[in-house]
Amino acid sequence: MPYSSPRKAKIVCTLGPSSSSAERIAELIRAGMDVARLNFSHGTHDFHRGLVASIREAAMAAGKTVAIMQDLQGPKIRLGKIPAPGVILEKGQKVCLHPEGAAPKSLQPGENPLPIMAEIAAAVAADVRPGARILFDDGKVATRAMSVEGPEIHVVVEVGGKLTSNKGMNLPGTPLSIPCLTDKDREDLKFGVEQKVDAIALSFVRSAADIEELKDILRDLTAEPPMVVAKIEREEAVAQMDSIIEVTDGVLVARGDMAVEVGAERVPPIQKQLIKSCNELGVPVITATQMLESMISCPTPTRAEASDVANAVFDGTDCVMLSGETASGEYPVEAVQTMARIIEETERNRAFSTPREILPMPGSIVESIEFSASRIANHVGAVAIACLTHSGTAAKTLAKFRPERPIVAIMDNERQLRRLAFVWGVQGVIIPKIVATDDLFAMVETTLLENRLAENDDYVVVTAGVPTLRRGTTNMVKVHKLGAQSERSPRKPS
Ligand code: PGA
Ligand code: MN
Repeated sequence: MPYSSPRKAKIVCTLGPSSSSAERIAELIRAGMDVARLNFSHGTHDFHRGLVASIREAAMAAGKTVAIMQDLQGPKIRLGKIPAPGVILEKGQKVCLHPEGAAPKSLQPGENPLPIMAEIAAAVAADVRPGARILFDDGKVATRAMSVEGPEIHVVVEVGGKLTSNKGMNLPGTPLSIPCLTDKDREDLKFGVEQKVDAIALSFVRSAADIEELKDILRDLTAEPPMVVAKIEREEAVAQMDSIIEVTDGVLVARGDMAVEVGAERVPPIQKQLIKSCNELGVPVITATQMLESMISCPTPTRAEASDVANAVFDGTDCVMLSGETASGEYPVEAVQTMARIIEETERNRAFSTPREILPMPGSIVESIEFSASRIANHVGAVAIACLTHSGTAAKTLAKFRPERPIVAIMDNERQLRRLAFVWGVQGVIIPKIVATDDLFAMVETTLLENRLAENDDYVVVTAGVPTLRRGTTNMVKVHKLGAQSERSPRKPS
């Protein structure tokens, strides 16, 4: 069979008004969407319920595995309602930030009042010290705190601009004590668990404790908790990335808020460090935000954007993500097609990838099996490496070693299979039930042939846990030639 490797890095698409119809979702899946991200900063539960139903229906119809990731808004601080057409702030202008819905009590003559979300205004004000930088609309408007009076913050504008309703507010360098999970997040989380989403992304994570708290809540809510993805976008999280990566099931390099919080020039090295650390521990990592930003209003990307996607793939990211491009842009399908093409071309040039030799953890049987499988597959020219796995751990472990040959996870649990949508290089195939039969390899053969993943006379490398095939028992690697068994002459009775 001619060896052609499918795309290995995965694509996450944010769904929104530009991609909410069932037909559009089906098109995104055809174009290569592996994970659909539901952004709970926007949209009602009814809107998201409709998306979940459409994603599942379209994935089923296409025979593709598409995971659903719920992205919780977290303690994103926003401005309140500002009457249209907005307010223009000039350098030197004094502004009083006050809780929305109440008249500012400490407004000085000549000061401009600006409402901020009432729920957290007081908590934010309590953390602000004079001299703190307070930025708006992704850092486009910059101010500095002069004084704080109760829940009201007096600032002076350093970089002016126009502000409109609900724009975001960042306080780089100010550690905030507001909890990572707001009341809205808790309500949204219950909804996500009811909808059986595959992953929950938590915004503005501060430390490993935030992830552990979310995991505790999820365990109380359901016997089958979704994966937890830590969005790294704050200074505190960058400083504690190692301990966060240790407890989380996935990481999202949230470059949008990160650039505002730590400075844009620090984002590229932080991205590289996060990807490297995640790769070493086999934690799936998503590189996100503005990857093909100009495609929101243009059918082709800029050269810098094409390079950005390619470089994230060269760095070793598991997934690249589209935000506004697919959620509210004019060219959602073209954006996914473009991303897929860039990934494929990058992967054809893997010689330029960041070199990284990851070795099996001493004492881990599954790691030594999968590491060896990856090497063997190359040596014998196998067309694929097939992992028979209940939990998906074997396939995920294999992916850690970034084998050249395609990884096929043969599984009997769809929920676990969908988690592999986040993992570099893994294609999942669902079978009715993995049972310890006499002829395990006959089953692998049939599965690969039926799914057109290999042909007779091809070599495949197979890993499994024998004899029980129970979770976490991978202990065997075999080089298997397809079709060889049926040609064998029947054994003579002895
Ligand atoms: P957001 O997260 O789109 O939810 O803000 C991603 C980022 O900040 O980059
Ligand atoms: Mn963010």
